[in-house]
Amino acid sequence: KSLPYFCRGEVVRGFGRGSKELGIPTANFPVSVVDHLPADIGTGIYYGWACVGTGDVFKMVMSIGWNPYYKNTKKSMETHVIHTFNEDFYGEILNVVMVGYIRPEKSYDSLEALIAAINNDIEEAKLKLELPEHLKLKEDNFFTSVT
Ligand code: ADP
Ligand code: MG
Repeated sequence: KSLPYFCRGEVVRGFGRGSKELGIPTANFPVSVVDHLPADIGTGIYYGWACVGTGDVFKMVMSIGWNPYYKNTKKSMETHVIHTFNEDFYGEILNVVMVGYIRPEKSYDSLEALIAAINNDIEEAKLKLELPEHLKLKEDNFFTSVT
């Protein structure tokens, strides 16, 4: 009901869970952005579009989960942009539109199972975002009006 949901915020440091070591870095939003999430956006995996600063708009997958730093009382939002960047972008503004929901969060028996699930999510996001109603959000003023 709240989708598509547009938001932007500074990229902050995560909990150093080593997402990058898994080959799947996730850019974290600050609590101020997470606090604005509508109540009906629950935890789980979402897909959509993202751009860093005034850069190009790329496909993304986002995990919304319970933030261990805040004793699981607050949600966290972690975006994996489906693009290979030459450098980290901590401190830059990440602009995203969450377009659809993929699945609830799960715990996995192994790292391999987790990585396989995330790679499935990425493939599903890539396919879904090719739908015309989703493609048009890539061109939304939300992204083009970023200065
Ligand atoms: P942290 O725990 O600080 O979030 P990660 O291992 O999850 O560390 O790495 C996230 C950081 O990697 C992001 O904040 C960003 O600066 C950088 N990064 C590089 N490429 C990407 C990408 N494709 N998607 C998301 N973040 C990326
Ligand atoms: Mg991260």
